[in-house]
Amino acid sequence: MWMAAARYACIAAAWASLVLAAGASPANAAGASPANAAGGINLEGIAVQGSLMIGRVEVGAKLWLDDVPVPVAKSGEFLLGFGRNAGRKARIKVTFADGRTASRLLRIEQREFKIERIDGLEPKKVTPSPEDLERIRAEKALIDKARARFTEKSYFRSGFIWPAQGRISGVYGSQRVLNGEARAPHLGVDIAAPKGSLVVAAADGVVSLSYNGMFFSGNVMVIDHGLGLGSIYAHLERLLVKEGQRVEQGQPIGTVGATGRVTGPHLHWGVNLFRVGLDPALLVPAMPAAGK
Ligand SMILES: [Zn+2]
Repeated sequence: MWMAAARYACIAAAWASLVLAAGASPANAAGASPANAAGGINLEGIAVQGSLMIGRVEVGAKLWLDDVPVPVAKSGEFLLGFGRNAGRKARIKVTFADGRTASRLLRIEQREFKIERIDGLEPKKVTPSPEDLERIRAEKALIDKARARFTEKSYFRSGFIWPAQGRISGVYGSQRVLNGEARAPHLGVDIAAPKGSLVVAAADGVVSLSYNGMFFSGNVMVIDHGLGLGSIYAHLERLLVKEGQRVEQGQPIGTVGATGRVTGPHLHWGVNLFRVGLDPALLVPAMPAAGK
């Protein structure tokens, strides 16, 4: 499975610099020419389950992805995210300020996800008590609130780096079976590293949540990278930055720990576009060999 992740990561490494082939695809109803820049939808990135695309439309345009409104910055910039279970096709529709409309069909590459069995977890962490469930709901609401933010900044333009170095001990999308019971898929990447190793901000942003002691996530941080894109860092030992603080890519934000529901010290790194969990490994090059 690491192979698949590495393969996607390699493709992803190029995304930041290219205006993607989606614009030249036969499926592109909006027209496959430089006219895109004037009359259409510019997109960067690849369309695959778990991927992020960066787009731009004319100022004042309104946009929908499969009939769901997509917030567009005043600059015309917007983000599209495809979840783990994204279907084979998605349609973008645009209404321009002057009333013209355009639409484009995106073909979304489908992936295969592995089944990951984790045994030996504390039973109460797999099947929480009613009191714990209440706490879990309240904590999830805090994360959801941080993820719901729409900040008119393009911090994500810094690009992304791995927030920690280490062995990849869990990949995006795996169907998890905990102590033999099927649970929600894993929407992040786990990086195993010794307790106390530095965790850095994967991209520029503003800290939107810095919270100690969640049931599942332990000590957790969320960074807002703008336009609805955020990253989460869970199971930390220490939180080194505060809510509202502006952080730059590479800046230490915490240390690796084993807080929350874990089997050992590691960083859980997730990337979300609003509530859609994306694959962080698609945003960075393969983990350097020394870290494996
Ligand atoms: Zn994880």
